[in-house]
Amino acid sequence: MPDIADRAQLDEQAHILDALSRRDDRDDAGQTRENGVVVCCDCGEPIPGARLRILPTACRCVECQDKAEGKAW
Ligand SMILES: [Zn+2]
Repeated sequence: MPDIADRAQLDEQAHILDALSRRDDRDDAGQTRENGVVVCCDCGEPIPGARLRILPTACRCVECQDKAEGKAW
């Protein structure tokens, strides 16, 4: 039977594994990540780092964002 210290460690490991397992899901900003890379929630292409520097919460690439806003190309 695990003592309290072991129990706390198991809880901590479960917490870390839970956090890791959610890495590929949408984060608080609604962004979708694959292997730590933010990808467009519409087309699934990686969002360029330059765009993320300007708009860290961007969840779409420029093209899909424009389409979403109804802009014609
Ligand atoms: Zn896109």
